[in-house]
Amino acid sequence: LGGRIARAIQQMSNATIVDESVLNECLREITRALLQADVRFELVSDMQTNIKNVVNLDRLAAGHNKRNIIQQAIFNELCKMLDTGKPSFMPKKGKTSVVMFVGLQGSGKTTTCTKYAHYYQKRGWKPALVCADTFRAGAFDQLKQNAAKAKIPFYGSYVESDPVQIAVEGVARFKEENCDLIIVDTSGRHKQEAALFEEMRQVSEATNPDLAIFVMDGSIGQAAYDQAQAFKQSVAVGAVIVTKMDGHAKGGGALSAVAATKSPLIFIGTGEHMHEFEVFNVKPFVKRLLGMGDLSGFIDRIQDDIPMDQQAEQKLLEGNFTLRIMYEQYQSKLKMGPLGQCRVDAKRPGKGKPSKCRVDAKRPGKGKPSKELDDNDPKHMDSRVMRIARGSGRQVAEVIEMLDEYKRWANFWRSKMKELLKIPKKGGMSS
Ligand code: GDP
Ligand code: MG
Repeated sequence: LGGRIARAIQQMSNATIVDESVLNECLREITRALLQADVRFELVSDMQTNIKNVVNLDRLAAGHNKRNIIQQAIFNELCKMLDTGKPSFMPKKGKTSVVMFVGLQGSGKTTTCTKYAHYYQKRGWKPALVCADTFRAGAFDQLKQNAAKAKIPFYGSYVESDPVQIAVEGVARFKEENCDLIIVDTSGRHKQEAALFEEMRQVSEATNPDLAIFVMDGSIGQAAYDQAQAFKQSVAVGAVIVTKMDGHAKGGGALSAVAATKSPLIFIGTGEHMHEFEVFNVKPFVKRLLGMGDLSGFIDRIQDDIPMDQQAEQKLLEGNFTLRIMYEQYQSKLKMGPLGQCRVDAKRPGKGKPSKCRVDAKRPGKGKPSKELDDNDPKHMDSRVMRIARGSGRQVAEVIEMLDEYKRWANFWRSKMKELLKIPKKGGMSS
């Protein structure tokens, strides 16, 4: 989706004169891209009308940069589709919140419950999981396994068949234990049947959740809007999480789900594993759609893997890729690949395919990393080689190789950040 929209805008930018026909062609291409990405027709059509209303080419005085105005209008419209204007309920640390997860079977509820709990646990909350899915065989075992792996307390039963009772008991238990984020996983049927909605309503009534999160499989295509709306009509959905954005999901389902529930998208699931979970932010997401890159999800992930202090994060944002950051990346055993799942169209800075990273975790040596790691002044690099080699007991050639690797990354990172910071301004886009 992103590629096509970005191309449409690019093509428009290449035209010598931006007139009605160029604008129309650009809008047609964006419309096609959105429809193909499973955004509901009505939404696309509204968007087109709105853009044409904003961009009145005849009335634009000469000297106005039409391209920027059109780009800005497209950006704004896409943001508007995703931004409901009201933030969702936010749990408060230390104060008990009950959050209920709803969605069809297979949408990723149970997986997402654990990711959600894990996310908050990492940030100092005391979450707990309640399995109110008595419909599917093995549901409790699945939740139990997930929860145990993440060391999150859980509640459920093999014998009790009434989901409402389990939910009530579980919530009561964890309230007693002073958990501040009690997460209730519910069952989902294959279809949007009346029985499921009735059960959901009852669990909701009995546990009185502060927030009901609708979990949707991002790859379900045009069905997204109706499905989301059906859930919204039965339970007070307050937020949406779209899963499986790593697979064939085209992103449009997310737009439709937000529109149908009038609830913000708060996270997206990008894989089966615990850490494959990203905070959703409208503007970076839309920038990504428009091919403008986004690093915030990536930085979140680094933080999850390596507790990065604020200073390091700030450095990264300023384009300062320090040796320490590289070292810590390798330390975390390349869990992410070399900036692997970074959503920036980040080819590796070097030429060709990423070589296997040959700076292994043990490097730079037995001695603990010193302040060398925080010094990223290129002028200091060469003079350091001998010192580092001596200090770490490594061959000079190895140190040079490691520093070369570092320089490539540092340069890449600097130019990437420059690009990211520049484009929004040039396009006149706020962020
Ligand atoms: P539930 O029936 O709604 O509770 O769904 P589950 O949590 O059991 O998930 C159904 C399947 O989807 C499982 O195989 C999960 O591993 C998988 N799944 C969940 N979230 C994601 C995701 O973000 N990406 C991918 N690729 N798979 C996911
Ligand atoms: Mg489940």
